[in-house]
Amino acid sequence: MLRTDRGGTGGGARVAIETSILTVFTAAMLTALATGLGALPFLFLKTLDRYWVSIANAIAGGLMLAATHSLVAEGVAISPERLILGMLIGLAAIVAAKSWLDEKTELDFAQLGGLDARKAFLIVAVMTAHSFAEGVGVGVSFGGSGELATFITAAIAVHNIPEGLAIALVLVPRGTPVLVAAAWAVFSSLPQPIAAVPAYLAVEHFAPFLPVGFGIAAGAMIWMVFSELIPDANKNAPTGTVGIVVTLSFTAMIGFQYLVLKG
Ligand SMILES: [Zn+2]
Repeated sequence: MLRTDRGGTGGGARVAIETSILTVFTAAMLTALATGLGALPFLFLKTLDRYWVSIANAIAGGLMLAATHSLVAEGVAISPERLILGMLIGLAAIVAAKSWLDEKTELDFAQLGGLDARKAFLIVAVMTAHSFAEGVGVGVSFGGSGELATFITAAIAVHNIPEGLAIALVLVPRGTPVLVAAAWAVFSSLPQPIAAVPAYLAVEHFAPFLPVGFGIAAGAMIWMVFSELIPDANKNAPTGTVGIVVTLSFTAMIGFQYLVLKG
């Protein structure tokens, strides 16, 4: 959910720069906090049986695929070559991270142990990495026109909520407390304010890497969906049902982004 076409004005007034850095940081920080809202539905849902855990994985998979679609669409619009390069790097990185993680059998994460901990760690790591690319997108957009920046910041804040939900859908049914899951959801978006400021200050240096960053995030996320989330979804729910849920959650996220936000 990012656009990077710029307004065309150069550096802008130097006097305003102090306020602008604060504006960029605050805007990106608010988008990060929005991610935590995604975990809140679980405050009202105390327990989930194994069928609903499978459905939760299917919903998370559909939401992540839709987020991937946005990254790919934005990346293709800038440079298909760099996007493809990024996707291959993202795939290699996530496969390497996964095999490294498989040796850490004693890993505890988000108040989970064993396989659950490794799965939870992977999804938080992947979502955190993809936030870097989005943070750069926010910063670069602030280098352009103000209107575009406001749109992109609002769009990212809103799409962060289902992404926080995707994280909570993986963590909470496995036993992570809701507030801990909300904290990890916010954490996964902290790269947005951190990356936005340097990207804003040096747009011309960061902009060329944007499609590569989108590609890295997309490559890792596609792998995550088909290697982790869908197999888990298929464990305790019929594959036909999983297919329906994935498609519906994908469609809901796309509808939300392109009808509600751009409407
Ligand atoms: Zn995202």
